[in-house]
Amino acid sequence: MKCRHCGTLLSHTFCDLGFAPPSNAYLSTEDLVRPEKYYPLKIRVCDQCWLVQTEDYAQVNELFCNEYAYFSSTSTGWLAHAAQYAQTMISQLGLTKASRVIEVASNDGYLLKNFISSGIPCVGIEPTASTAEAAEKIGIPVLREFFGESLGKRLMAQGNQADLITGNNVYAHVPDINDFTRGLKAALKPGGVITLEFPHLMRLIEQTQFDTVYHEHFSYLSLHTVGRIFRAADLRVFDVLELPTHGGSLRVFGCHAGDTRETTPAVDAMLLKETEVGLRTITTYHGFQMRANRVKDELLSFLIEQKRAGKKVAAYGAAAKGNTLLNYAGVKPDLLSFVCDAAVSKQGKFMPGSHIPILTPQAMLEHRPDFVVILPWNLSEEVIKVNSFVLDWGGKFVTFVPELRIH
Ligand SMILES: [Zn+2]
Repeated sequence: MKCRHCGTLLSHTFCDLGFAPPSNAYLSTEDLVRPEKYYPLKIRVCDQCWLVQTEDYAQVNELFCNEYAYFSSTSTGWLAHAAQYAQTMISQLGLTKASRVIEVASNDGYLLKNFISSGIPCVGIEPTASTAEAAEKIGIPVLREFFGESLGKRLMAQGNQADLITGNNVYAHVPDINDFTRGLKAALKPGGVITLEFPHLMRLIEQTQFDTVYHEHFSYLSLHTVGRIFRAADLRVFDVLELPTHGGSLRVFGCHAGDTRETTPAVDAMLLKETEVGLRTITTYHGFQMRANRVKDELLSFLIEQKRAGKKVAAYGAAAKGNTLLNYAGVKPDLLSFVCDAAVSKQGKFMPGSHIPILTPQAMLEHRPDFVVILPWNLSEEVIKVNSFVLDWGGKFVTFVPELRIH
């Protein structure tokens, strides 16, 4: 396979998680009597541009035929993050009624509603019908298609270029990152700004966040690599900010390559930090699998130990992360009896692969587990706060990434 950015033949494996079903393929009771499809889940790294990427496999398009859609508005922490972002951008860029904001992967309008309420014209781009409909209901115009060079050029031809193009957690999920970036270039007004947020590869490696690997997550990005991809599309990263979201993310600020804005010292400082921690050294990538295996082994030992001691263990958060972790470890309902989730759309279904049932958070009151494993460890604080009633019967919360921690 060749690198999706620079075309170099890939010869290094970063992480091999065997085979797994699509992480969002939640199963109904009827699905449990049908065969379940597994796809290879292997991550490669390019030793030229350092793009960490999923390995290509057959029938990749099948993954996206899934009915399930994640609604961004279900996480209160994420909503606050979005509102704060909008206020900052409006004041920093001096956005007015004459400006235009485009959000790629606008989901249910969780972000753009903050611009709309300030009277700033917006367009959302969102191919998933259910979430696009939710956004339209609150007054956000949505183009229901995938973003790339052809849509970017169409927006340019129609005179609909943007002063601000934003994409939160979409850049790492696009199959053709070069085409997507050329689309950003075409849809951006002269003098306009692009902001993209994505989980930072540096944190993934540092914190052994191997459970953030799944099929739909095509790229694992560093500032170095994003800078290269931007340059190839005649764009430039002029600023960068570290964010605590998703276990450590970057927000990069981009502009046209020839823009008069100066590149801030934060960009060079982050590039230096990435080099110092070894993101441009192949041995850094070779050591990752062993550390991922250690996390997996620790989870299994814990679950087996609790089972032998007669303790009840449940989990919280039927997130993609949880599916990667449970499937790589081969955990089934005998070791982890149920997972609770606040999203009504997941309740009553089963986790893909592990077939662990998904129940309401109230199920914990009935079963009184001794331990609750928080699968989306990045939301631990929020989960513990909302479900603090678990502490009433001496129940404890546990996370496993980067290592076993009893809260
Ligand atoms: Zn490459």
